[in-house]
Amino acid sequence: MNVQTNLENIQENIQAVCEKVNRSSDEVKIIAVTKYVSTERAQEAIAAGVNNLGENRDEGLLEKQAVIKNGAVWHYIGSLQSRKVKNIINKVDYIHSLDRMSLAKEIEKRANKPIKCFIQVNVSGEDSKQGLSKEEIIPFVKALSDFKQIEVVGLMTMAPLTSDETVLRNCFRNLKLLQQEVLSLQLSHAPCKELSMGMSNDYQIAIEEGATMVRIGTALVGKEK
Ligand SMILES: *Cc1c(COP(=O)(O)O)cnc(C)c1O
Repeated sequence: MNVQTNLENIQENIQAVCEKVNRSSDEVKIIAVTKYVSTERAQEAIAAGVNNLGENRDEGLLEKQAVIKNGAVWHYIGSLQSRKVKNIINKVDYIHSLDRMSLAKEIEKRANKPIKCFIQVNVSGEDSKQGLSKEEIIPFVKALSDFKQIEVVGLMTMAPLTSDETVLRNCFRNLKLLQQEVLSLQLSHAPCKELSMGMSNDYQIAIEEGATMVRIGTALVGKEK
């Protein structure tokens, strides 16, 4: 398990996909998802050249931040309980999991500065998945206009757990279509330029469909816990 080698492989894959669909690989950021691994392993990712780190628990985030001080960009990617907001809100750069009004209100109340937020969308409509339904997105984005501390930088989704390429592709494509609807509103609080989609097993398809941030754990830093 060598993070540097994994990163090089992933970067080569991203390069190849981008060439195939005529995108620049500069448009795609890798977020190293370190939720399954130690702080040491997360530091290996930083040493290899990744500076975006993703965590899905307040404990894991704070533990790693206590040690990693060299200018990493921190992403909160997991479902976020309202009572935990105060623990992390002024320590992260991005939240990928804004999925309800009560959470937006808590962020608004606790944040000292505007936070870059992704609205999480349950594109596939599976019961088990976090996120707002497609139909809820436009009203939700509009309702956020009064929230001074929330900047809607993009949309995020988790694809269904399947290896069926058509299903995955449809999911990512639908998120992109939804982004275009948001963009057409031209709201100043919702520039919505980013698409956070694609993980270890499906990031190549996600990039073909327009991902600008891929959240990669297992394929990059492995899985220790
Ligand atoms: C764990 C997780 C990931 C990374 O998953 P891998 O399959 O290990 O790459 C990405 N996004 C979210 C929201 C996660 O919880």
